[in-house]
Amino acid sequence: MARINPEFTDELIKYGAFDPNACYNCGNCTAVCTLSDENNSFPRKMVRYSVLGLDDEIKASLDPWLCYYCGECSITCPREADPGELMMSLRRWLISKYDWTGLSGLLYKSLAASISAFVLLAAVVIWFGAYWHFNLETVMHYGHYFEIAAISLVFLAILLPNIIYMWWLTVYKPGIKAPISVYIKAIGELVVHLFTQKRTLSCDDNQLRWFEHFIMVLGYLGLLFTTVFLDWFSTQSMFIIVLGYVESAIIFIVTFDFIRRRIQKDKEISKHSQPSDWFFVIWLFMMGLTAFLVRLFMDVNILENNIWMYLVNLIILVQWALIIVPFGKWTHFLYRSFAMYFANLHRATLAK
Ligand code: SF4
Ligand code: SF4
Repeated sequence: MARINPEFTDELIKYGAFDPNACYNCGNCTAVCTLSDENNSFPRKMVRYSVLGLDDEIKASLDPWLCYYCGECSITCPREADPGELMMSLRRWLISKYDWTGLSGLLYKSLAASISAFVLLAAVVIWFGAYWHFNLETVMHYGHYFEIAAISLVFLAILLPNIIYMWWLTVYKPGIKAPISVYIKAIGELVVHLFTQKRTLSCDDNQLRWFEHFIMVLGYLGLLFTTVFLDWFSTQSMFIIVLGYVESAIIFIVTFDFIRRRIQKDKEISKHSQPSDWFFVIWLFMMGLTAFLVRLFMDVNILENNIWMYLVNLIILVQWALIIVPFGKWTHFLYRSFAMYFANLHRATLAK
């Protein structure tokens, strides 16, 4: 028998859901959703599960990840139950369930905890700079090692176990037994989704949003590669220097547009911004901008006397790598791609 959690909607509201109890189950939202199909019917089912407190069923479902938040269902809902925002809140709630550290839930629900974490990491970076007497060469040297260590640590210690737990909840526990050949065959699709998030294109009116996200992902991954593996801040190669400038400029120009839209609230999807949404776009913007300025300061030979510029960039980078990537909105990109991968395993098993 299904277990009912009577506190579930109250819990979900802390993650941003609007008023799921307003739903009277008309089904308009599912009818209008271009991504919903007979295998994965949403968002009405998820709204019902939420209202009934069927949290185990929600944990086992991939549906919240298959929604790409176009907002059409919320516009159509006659009861203003905001099913699009409910799907978004379910994604945040699911992240907190996948995360073995428990920090995602804490940071999503408590703005004070998020701000404290940001301040604490900023203080650690300033202390680190002071420890090395604000010697630019030494601070940059260890800053570069930090990037490599943070990427490896966050992936191996936090994201990988969380993805395995997501697999256990959504594939293994519900009894999906896909042969190993399907796991291997679907990897190609996983990689395509990771880089392109191409499912967004199936949403009406999402082409421009998809293009902006695509450019931003390319800029972000490119800058990560250029900074960490091509050592952008130390290289003398003109090609790598220009490449880094272009990538960092792409990031701050595109994210500036994201921030503008969230301020103007001109579309359904930008009407309800949670702190985690703001952190994501602002930190990405700052990361692109400060990286661009650090390299510019180096190229005009003023960084030595303005080490604060590098420290600002390092603070943003540390906060991004240790808060937003493992526990914040960045993880949507990862879990969503794996949800598409796991959905392929479901489809292959059901087709047998
Ligand atoms: S359109 Fe609104 S009222 Fe109708 S099922 Fe969806 S959420 Fe409920
Ligand atoms: S926000 Fe768009 S993709 Fe998501 S459930 Fe609603 S209509 Fe479907």
